[in-house]
Amino acid sequence: MRDFLVAGNWKMNGSLQANAELTDGILAGMPASDSVQMLVCPPYPYLADLAGKLAATKLSLGAQNVSQNEAGAYTGEVSPGMLKDIGCEYVIVGHSERRAMMGESSDIVAEKFMAALAVGLKPVLCVGETLEEREAERTEAVIDEQLNAVLDSAGVDSFASAVLAYEPVWAIGTGLTASPEQAQDVHRHIRAAIDSRNEDIAASIQILYGGSVKGENAAGLFTMPDIDGGLVGGASLKADDFLAIAHAAASLV
Ligand code: PEP
Repeated sequence: MRDFLVAGNWKMNGSLQANAELTDGILAGMPASDSVQMLVCPPYPYLADLAGKLAATKLSLGAQNVSQNEAGAYTGEVSPGMLKDIGCEYVIVGHSERRAMMGESSDIVAEKFMAALAVGLKPVLCVGETLEEREAERTEAVIDEQLNAVLDSAGVDSFASAVLAYEPVWAIGTGLTASPEQAQDVHRHIRAAIDSRNEDIAASIQILYGGSVKGENAAGLFTMPDIDGGLVGGASLKADDFLAIAHAAASLV
């Protein structure tokens, strides 16, 4: 059995005070079950502060992005080694907002994935189609392109230390959620793609669903056989909302 992972992507939200209140609230209400892991991904400036606060807790810490380069003349970038140095465990790579707004190609995402792994960070690799691509029945082709770019460069063995997230772009921040069946269809496809290269890794890798996950829809999604938790944006910014999702997972273990 795979553990559930409930991950919060705070995006460009927060302040010292708001983060302290949010993490206090999460820590006070986390499910007791060891089968439900929780992760928060705050903006860069707050990571070091939160790394200290969360170090002795079961709430994991990750970043939302990372440079593919180790060091040097890359103004404004943050290296994988720096994230590791300050105590991050995870990093999101390939979020659709970065693919769309920052022009991150699947090849760049693959470089970031490998750079993260090289220092011992666990990448959370996001893949997902736009509404236009879904309506053109290109969902699987898009997922294959995004996934194969990383599988071909990094090799399937590297996925033993990674997490995947299926995030249909049309469901992110829109209030629209993929139905459990729609999400499961894509999760099954993703796991099969990994399985065709390595059965053991396919069986063990966590594949999260992301796209307007809330307390009310989480259990329906998480009962699906290939959905191992959620990558949560909006609902990760309030402790009670985020905890409701984690407790939905805990009710299933
Ligand atoms: C996300 O940003 O990864 C996300 C899934 O956002 P939301 O939950 O707000 O749709």
